[in-house]
Amino acid sequence: MIPFNKPPFLGKELDYIKDAIVVKNKISGDGFYTRKCNIWLEKSFKANKALLTTSCTHALEMAAILCDIKEGDEVIMPSYTFVSTANAFVLRGAKIVFVDIRPDTMNINENLIEDAITDKTKVIVPVHYAGVSCEMDKIMDIAKKYGLYVVEDAAQGVMSQYKGQSLGNIGDFGCYSFHETKNYSMGEGGALLIRNEKFIERTEIIREKGTNRSKFFRGQIDKYTWVDLGSSYLPSEINAAYLYAQLEEADKINNKRLELWNTYYDILKPLMDKGVIELPHVPKECKHNAHMFYIKTKDMDERTKLIDYLKNNDILSVFHYIPLHSSPAGLKFGRFNGEDKYTTKESERLLRLPMFYDLDVDIVKKICKKLFDFYI
Ligand SMILES: *Cc1c(COP(=O)(O)O)cnc(C)c1O
Repeated sequence: MIPFNKPPFLGKELDYIKDAIVVKNKISGDGFYTRKCNIWLEKSFKANKALLTTSCTHALEMAAILCDIKEGDEVIMPSYTFVSTANAFVLRGAKIVFVDIRPDTMNINENLIEDAITDKTKVIVPVHYAGVSCEMDKIMDIAKKYGLYVVEDAAQGVMSQYKGQSLGNIGDFGCYSFHETKNYSMGEGGALLIRNEKFIERTEIIREKGTNRSKFFRGQIDKYTWVDLGSSYLPSEINAAYLYAQLEEADKINNKRLELWNTYYDILKPLMDKGVIELPHVPKECKHNAHMFYIKTKDMDERTKLIDYLKNNDILSVFHYIPLHSSPAGLKFGRFNGEDKYTTKESERLLRLPMFYDLDVDIVKKICKKLFDFYI
């Protein structure tokens, strides 16, 4: 069976974990490896500040606190996304306002955002689907015009760029995921990127259970105390050590994924030219990270048949995101602004093919051959 995903493992992870335990004698958070990861993220993506978190979900929750979300505030985002994008803000009392997506990238349609803004709107959350950037120039302009925060859900966008800027470092806050299904992993984990220096101190406090313990550890104060809202958002050194081994090899991982992605694309292009399937679109301003490879079938019925066909040929393919606005919680906590022209329709056609660091190019060729057998 060809799996859909396999967590990345480069080799040095176990050495670093052992070093954290046996040599550094520190396995709780904010030790040697967490600092290494934070600095790597800041340097690589030219970020003012990056802090590892226990997940992207938690990075989004921290961003919601930093945006001072209160009961009744409105937050604009696509409905075609993972539940955490919405939950993070709902937990603080926000109402979610969903906007339709563009069918070419599956990202929020930047031209529909302005119509969704009310005097309660506080934040726009672009989700960079498949590591392909949203139209950030337009989104940042709108945010500036109306005085809104931009929180990037860049869970899938580590190493991707928009006009030369790293995803996650364009909006006020950027949220990364290092879950085992993402390009770089620590099992469960993530990071929060902060653009404006004025938020750094509060971010450290929120991440340390609402205390000023980070300042205390740096010797800036002589005792620490409870000063703000917060929770436990810092990951263990064991997880950070695993991640650091992967960040060191980030280019190697990225290049391998791009090779797999390009192999899929080149071989399947004739099927797209024939009008049988659709392939992902990457706008010219975007440099993507090959987070996923998907195709679009004619409709849901054809997708179901294709999943079965691939499964009978030992290939696992998956789809995702039941649009949030039609889910039970989405109906309760949100509303869809405007017409759902593409969100539901396109989500029913999308199918993700196996994509992971350890995947062989020859296996990709085999998978493509099976797709030709199905369609031709
Ligand atoms: C994976 C993902 C998340 C959640 O990441 P975790 O690290 O598992 O919390 C959030 N948003 C999007 C778009 C994702 O793909």
